[in-house]
Amino acid sequence: MTTPRKKKTSTPKKKKTGAAVKTGAAGRASKTKRKTAAAAKKTSRRKSSSTAATGTAASAKKTKKASGPGKKKPAKLWTRGQSGIHANGLFAAVDIPKGTRVIEYVGHRLTKQQGYERAMAWLEKTRGTDKGAVYVFEVNSRWDIDGNVPWNPARFINHSCRPNCEPRVIRGRIFIIARRNIKAGEELTYDYGYDLEHWEEHPCRCGAPNCIGYIVGREHRAKLRRILRKREAEARAAADSGK
Ligand SMILES: [Zn+2]
Repeated sequence: MTTPRKKKTSTPKKKKTGAAVKTGAAGRASKTKRKTAAAAKKTSRRKSSSTAATGTAASAKKTKKASGPGKKKPAKLWTRGQSGIHANGLFAAVDIPKGTRVIEYVGHRLTKQQGYERAMAWLEKTRGTDKGAVYVFEVNSRWDIDGNVPWNPARFINHSCRPNCEPRVIRGRIFIIARRNIKAGEELTYDYGYDLEHWEEHPCRCGAPNCIGYIVGREHRAKLRRILRKREAEARAAADSGK
């Protein structure tokens, strides 16, 4: 069987190996340039729960908002804070209804080749450290987004084995959507969707009752559970024979 990796175009996943180049002097200039683009983009944030709501009403709203460049962003649905899971996290600032686009995951758009190169560079750099942060997101079979940029607060959202949000690609952009009604103050989470390749390097501390202890996508958890059980049995057998 061939690997099904590329087929999943509707569900964006963080690349397990992914990541970002640290901000060198060279990277800085292009960064500021892109910042304004990203900021402008963000003003088009919509709350509609339905993906079909891309009609005239929505686009009218968009142009209206974009015409006020001096204005700050509309009331934020989220706030940043100290996470109980890992380092920083994002939290619901208000009650968020199911289906809401909570935040867009923005960053540099990369070709697959560029995404791969960044991922490899980052892997080299962080090998053996606890820097589990991965920022390269697969948008579809052609594009990735490198979200390790200061104007992408969505990069602080932690993984959970029982997440309250999920990423969704909508017309080539990635939005973090509420999977259920979220109460103000709850930490926002989604499934990073990592594959099984380097699962041991990404321990999970999400605290969910169904937490498997490592950050892997839901579809891989049954297999990982088998691996863990086998290991445990082997360890027990080794301990017994050692007595
Ligand atoms: Zn977990």
